This record gives sequence, structure tokens and C-alpha cells, in this order.
Amino acid sequence: MSQILNSGKGTKIELIQNADLSALCTYGVGGRAKRLVFARCTDGLNQALGLDDNWIVIGNASKLLFLDSGFDGTIIATKDDKYFFKTQKDDKSDFEFVYAGAGVKLPLLARQMCKAGLYGLEWAGGIPALIGGAVKMNAGAHGGDMATVVKSVDVFKNGKKIVLTNCRCGFGYRQSGFERSDIILGATLQLKRASQNQSDKMVIEKTKSPLELLNFYNKKRALAQPKGKSCGSVFKAVTLNKSDLNHSVANLLKLDDLKPKRLSGQNDIKAFNGQSAEPTIQIPAWKFIDACNLKGTQIGGAIVSKIHANFIINSGNAKSDDIISLINLVKSQVYDKFSIKLLQEVIIVD
Ligand SMILES: Cc1cc2nc3c(=O)[nH]c(=O)nc-3n(C[C@H](O)[C@H](O)[C@H](O)COP(=O)(O)OP(=O)(O)OC[C@H]3O[C@@H](n4cnc5c(N)ncnc54)[C@H](O)[C@@H]3O)c2cc1C
Repeated sequence: MSQILNSGKGTKIELIQNADLSALCTYGVGGRAKRLVFARCTDGLNQALGLDDNWIVIGNASKLLFLDSGFDGTIIATKDDKYFFKTQKDDKSDFEFVYAGAGVKLPLLARQMCKAGLYGLEWAGGIPALIGGAVKMNAGAHGGDMATVVKSVDVFKNGKKIVLTNCRCGFGYRQSGFERSDIILGATLQLKRASQNQSDKMVIEKTKSPLELLNFYNKKRALAQPKGKSCGSVFKAVTLNKSDLNHSVANLLKLDDLKPKRLSGQNDIKAFNGQSAEPTIQIPAWKFIDACNLKGTQIGGAIVSKIHANFIINSGNAKSDDIISLINLVKSQVYDKFSIKLLQEVIIVD
């Protein structure tokens, strides 16, 4: 049952005791949490944090796997779902800035911005995240990610709000430097007007408007990704030093062309210069899983998708334990075949 609590300053938070976690997350699994709290503002957050030492903040719970045994603590959800342009249109400037609260739905914002003729979020139309979760995970697809559009992030840290510029957010591949105790309140995004369509990625498809690109990517996604309850990709892409990728592995993975020219392109093998002097390559995890013939493998109600090997689907009656057992099976088979340790992108909440 939901309760509304007033704080000393009159701020209201909504509280649900013994909340059903399976109803909260895109995986549709999990037991119960002691409490679920919806907070709209920093006073509400302070009030929520005072309820429990054990807490976690969630967005749309699209990357989370809750345990069958539930969560013995408080789940905090930010409710700020407002967004607004921060500056008036200025004909001399290339950019427009939009502030989005942590609770804004990323695909909705992406569509609104594309409709407004702004580039920057056209890759995001199919990612079921809220802005807070998208920033924390540096969500991305089709060559774009949050790190390329975030100008600054408002964070609730140690009881007060601070603003961090992009370079202080510690963005990396599907990760950021925010700590577990940091609560993202919202982010200011820097978007480009349609007439300024000059980025590398856009050059390829520069005849498309932002909305056309968004629809194009959504269609591509619908063909490549399975329907059903999931968390998207379960494992991160594998980063290897180029010298570690021997030809037998390359053959097994059907990486037929490893020339530097192709490696630096927009293909599924991406080369980049990391911290090490040696060039590294990034290989999608599904290639390893596919090469182990694991598509269709099932434990209880959890199944490795036949359409995309890096998706583990809840076929309807999966337990969290089924999904975890399947994750471990995939990891061990890939390790046995390739001596590669797959890293989880899915976050298990324990
Ligand atoms: C069908 C499907 C397709 C997907 N496709 C993609 C894709 O193409 N690209 C991609 O990158 N991801 C994809 N995902 C995964 C997921 O949508 C992203 O990881 C997303 O960034 C998670 O956002 P969320 O709001 O659901 O966060 P949650 O899953 O709720 O949380 C993720 C993490 O962020 C933290 N967090 C959430 N909100 C806040 C906040 N306000 N302050 C601080 N920390 C917070 C949580 O504590 C947790 O650590 C997909 C998922 C599904 C189900």
C-alpha cells in the first residue's frame, strides 16, 4: 500500500512497503524490497535516505537483476520527469541546451528532441532508460552515447547538490565515475541544430533528418533484437590487445578481416587507442557466445535468445536464479573455449 509522508519542510515522498520488485524491472523477476520510495526533490531525497542505511537508487531498472530473495533495504526512485530548454534559440550558436530531470524517459526525450530538429539523441530512441540511469551507465548505441551529449550533471552528493561538468563524470564504455551513493538529479545536454549536421557519424547519413535517423535506428534495432523481458545486453563487449587476438580465435569468431583499415571503421570490430601503447580491439560479446553454440540454451524460464546471443530472456516464468545460472553457464563455456572472462553489464542487486 502506498503512503504519502511529509517532511519537516512540507516535502512529500511516496512510500510503498514490501514492494514487488518484479513489477519494477524490465526483467520481470525479483522478490520484495522492504521499501520503495519515490522522491521528487533534494529534501525528499534527504528524507528517503534517513529511512535506511541500505539503499539503492534506480531509474527504469532496465539494467538491474533483482534477486528472488528480494532486497532488504530501500529502493529510491527519483520522480523528476521535467525537461526544458535552458537557452533561447540563438541564431549565432550551433548548439541548444536542454535540461532533463533524472526521471525523464530517454526514448521520449530523444523523440521530442529529434522532432524539434536537434541532433545528438537520435541513437537513443530504443533504450528503455531514464536519464539518471542512462547517465550513470553511459548508455549508448549506433555510435552515440550519453558522454557525447552531456554538458553537465546535477548530483546529490553527501547531502547537497553539486554540478559536475562532463570531464568530471568519469565516462567510459558503458560506465561512469559516479559512486553508488551519488544520486543523479538531472543532466544538461548539448544538442546540435539540424543545419550543423557535421559530425563524423552523420557524414555517412547526412541527408537524414534527426527524426528520420531515429526511426531508421529503431527499425534496425527491431530487426536485430529480441522481444520479451530482458535487460538488453548481459555482457560487455570484450576489449583485447590486438596481439592477444590470434588467428584461431579470429577464425572461430568469424572475424574475417583484421586489417587496421577495417578495425578503425564503424564496424562491429572497433579499434581505439586506450591507455596502453598497444592498440586494442573491441569484440561484441555475442560473437563469443554464438561461437559456443549457446543460442537457445535454457535454464528454467531463462533462455539465451535465438536472435541475439547476448540477450538472456525471461520467457515468462523465469526466476532470478535461472537467469544467474544461465549467466554463469555462458561465462564458463566462453572461458573454456576462448580463455576469455566475459564481464557482466547487467547489475545484480544484492
Ligand atoms: C530491451 C533493452 C534494450 C537495451 N538497449 C540498450 C542499448 O542499446 N544501449 C545501452 O547502453 N543500454 C541498453 N539497455 C540497457 C539499459 O537500458 C541501460 O543500461 C540504461 O542506461 C539503464 O537505465 P535505467 O534508467 O533503467 O537504470 P537502472 O537499470 O535503474 O540502473 C542502472 C544503474 O544506474 C544507477 N542509477 C539509476 N538511476 C540513477 C540516478 N538517478 N542516480 C544515480 N544512479 C542511478 C542504478 O543504481 C544502477 O547502478 C537495454 C535494455 C533493454 C531492456
